[in-house]
Amino acid sequence: MNHFICVTCGVQYEQSTLPPDSCLICNEERQYIHPEGQSWTTLEKMRQEKIYRNDIIQEEENLYSIHTNPNYGISQFAYLVQNQGFNILWDCITYLDRTTIQVVEELGGIDVIALSHPHYYSTQVEWAEAFDALIYIHEDDKGWITRPSERIVFWSGENHELNYGLNLHRLGGHFKGATVLEWQHGNQGLGVLLSGDVIQIVPDQHWVSFMYSYPNLIPLPANKVSEMAERVKTMKFDRIYNAFHRMVKSDGIAVVERSANRYIKALKGTLFET
Ligand SMILES: [Zn+2]
Ligand SMILES: [Zn+2]
Repeated sequence: MNHFICVTCGVQYEQSTLPPDSCLICNEERQYIHPEGQSWTTLEKMRQEKIYRNDIIQEEENLYSIHTNPNYGISQFAYLVQNQGFNILWDCITYLDRTTIQVVEELGGIDVIALSHPHYYSTQVEWAEAFDALIYIHEDDKGWITRPSERIVFWSGENHELNYGLNLHRLGGHFKGATVLEWQHGNQGLGVLLSGDVIQIVPDQHWVSFMYSYPNLIPLPANKVSEMAERVKTMKFDRIYNAFHRMVKSDGIAVVERSANRYIKALKGTLFET
């Protein structure tokens, strides 16, 4: 019996003798099946291959990024936030080894794991078991769980306070339960938004964007984008980190508003002539 992992998205499945017939996450219009076909691995196999290691880098005081090198699956970054003695792992990555566990333990371990959306569920249950942590997922994305666990807590409504100054907000868009994390104590008290790719930071890091599917370039409706930007205005933050190691250094709320306006103009055909 194995917990198989989809090689394309890095999401792990519940125990089985044979690999699943297809990947729930990839076999859907927001992701894709690799042109060479569906393939599977396991965490044990990845460890034996000795190809991967996790880089854990301090981004600012009390914030660390965790990323697999060389890139694996969707290549997302996870973040460890130290919130006055309460540690949260924001989003998750597939590869987990003894060294990673040791380094994260030295940083205070993990009290809870919270996920922005199903593309980053990866081996979240392995991480939760290694650190004796709970996993917070919005109930609207319940149907995307590929490895059920008693450690998963489904939260509901529009927001949820995980700890003092640390709030989950359901914004929807990319997924119905798509969530961002507001960390009010970050960035020396000015606040940080960890946005996954629910709000995506683009190469010009003074702008963000919004999509239903990133790999397949399916946009979101104007009313949804405007609603997301309105919600963001109620939060306290200045800086934004996304899932791909990009950062909006400051003025994050204005950046989201300006970017939402540009996006809506583009959808309506008033941004440019072509
Ligand atoms: Zn997959
Ligand atoms: Zn995604």
